[in-house]
Amino acid sequence: MHAMIIGAGLAGLTCARELDRHGVDVTLIEASNGVGGRVRTDYVDGYTLDRGFQVLFDAYPAVQRQLDLTALDLQPFEPGAIICFEGQRIVLTDPLRDPDLKARLQATIDMRISPFDKLRTLLLALELKSQTIGQMLTGPDTSSLNYLRQRGFSERFIDLFFRPFYGGILFDRALQTSAKCLKFDFKMLAEGQTAVPLHGMGEISEQLARPLMQRGRIRLNTRAERIFSAGDGTHIYLVGGETLQPDVIVLATSAPEVERLSGEPMPTGAKQTATIYLNGDQRFYSAKKLVLNANPDAYINNAQLLTNVNPAYAPVGKHLLSAVTIGIPTITDTQLYRAVLTDLHAMFAGDIKAQAALATYQPLAIYRIPYAQFDQPPGLHARLPDNRTQLQGVYLAGEYTEASSLNAAMVSGEKCAVAIIKDLRMY
Ligand SMILES: Cc1cc2nc3c(=O)[nH]c(=O)nc-3n(C[C@H](O)[C@H](O)[C@H](O)COP(=O)(O)OP(=O)(O)OC[C@H]3O[C@@H](n4cnc5c(N)ncnc54)[C@H](O)[C@@H]3O)c2cc1C
Repeated sequence: MHAMIIGAGLAGLTCARELDRHGVDVTLIEASNGVGGRVRTDYVDGYTLDRGFQVLFDAYPAVQRQLDLTALDLQPFEPGAIICFEGQRIVLTDPLRDPDLKARLQATIDMRISPFDKLRTLLLALELKSQTIGQMLTGPDTSSLNYLRQRGFSERFIDLFFRPFYGGILFDRALQTSAKCLKFDFKMLAEGQTAVPLHGMGEISEQLARPLMQRGRIRLNTRAERIFSAGDGTHIYLVGGETLQPDVIVLATSAPEVERLSGEPMPTGAKQTATIYLNGDQRFYSAKKLVLNANPDAYINNAQLLTNVNPAYAPVGKHLLSAVTIGIPTITDTQLYRAVLTDLHAMFAGDIKAQAALATYQPLAIYRIPYAQFDQPPGLHARLPDNRTQLQGVYLAGEYTEASSLNAAMVSGEKCAVAIIKDLRMY
């Protein structure tokens, strides 16, 4: 029994590993020159550049099942964020977990954030921690914005914290994404750490792929052009003319490509983003926290000195800054670097040391990402496709059967493998 998986992102890799563990003969075909799909890292002149700013929540259930977290050597962020607003910086943190005592104290006594909003945040975390994921995902849904308003958060706090924070996670500053996504992410944040692996996010994919790669189970630079049914089953036609006829086909590409290959309707919409990397000689803040731009005219949504969290992301003595936009800027690279620095100078206004440090930052790289996630409006979870399709022997593994996240991609890969193994027993 031979299964062929089209796409070596986290979903395809997880599915392949699970099938392999159950003794199914499996091959992955991947269009690009490496594994990981949206989770890849470039190593350039001593810098570790993830292809788009991305983090791992180590509480993700599939991450705990599938990855060797010790080997990834996770480098954690501190909880909370530095909120930049109208020339002020406000530190927000989890008073129960932040290892930085000064930040804890500062955040507790800072009255620029209402104590009621701080209390509501704490209560939300406690409530979500006490719920199972199943409980959280069932029942009626609404937008994240409605949900936060229903929970009594002030408009000011929503603007200062939730818009830029979830803007960064879900690429949606308007908070129109399903409240179930917000709740799930909030639970993960409350239950574990936010981190990057020592050698970059791409190491997650490499770890999943390594045993398969070593046994020649992955064909890189191999693009499926189409799949088609003939009398003797479903076939894969590759760019270049080769035709393959495995017993089972798993479509593990992004949703639009699955729709193109199979004709099956898929979740629509594309969240776009850009990550702009700069390197500098000095750090302009010292915390291991995200820096959120809460200004209403924000050009960048968030920025982070990755080397505060993981010094191995840059050569010794250098600092690596990544800045994130929601949507893809249409301006030139030079203009974009300038816009990022202009925003950062405004965000750190009045901090003379930060201004001097920022003056040392130089352009390094830009990643414009046309498809980071699909749209996740309220009610989405009930409409997501199943791992099984109408086509004989054709299955789906991809984030789009669950939600749009690393965890969702891996869960989908696991569920797809289970469906195939169950069905194979009937063949
Ligand atoms: C910038 C950015 C930031 C993100 N931040 C986070 C985050 O912080 N936390 C989080 O949980 N999630 C985050 N995500 C989302 C997460 O990365 C994705 O949900 C997940 O990686 C999707 O995995 P996948 O395997 O479903 O799809 P993909 O990663 O898209 O993999 C699909 C694979 O199929 C291949 N392929 C496509 N067409 C073909 C073809 N015709 N033939 C052969 N191969 C093909 C592609 O090359 C690719 O390797 C982020 C995504 C981006 C881009």
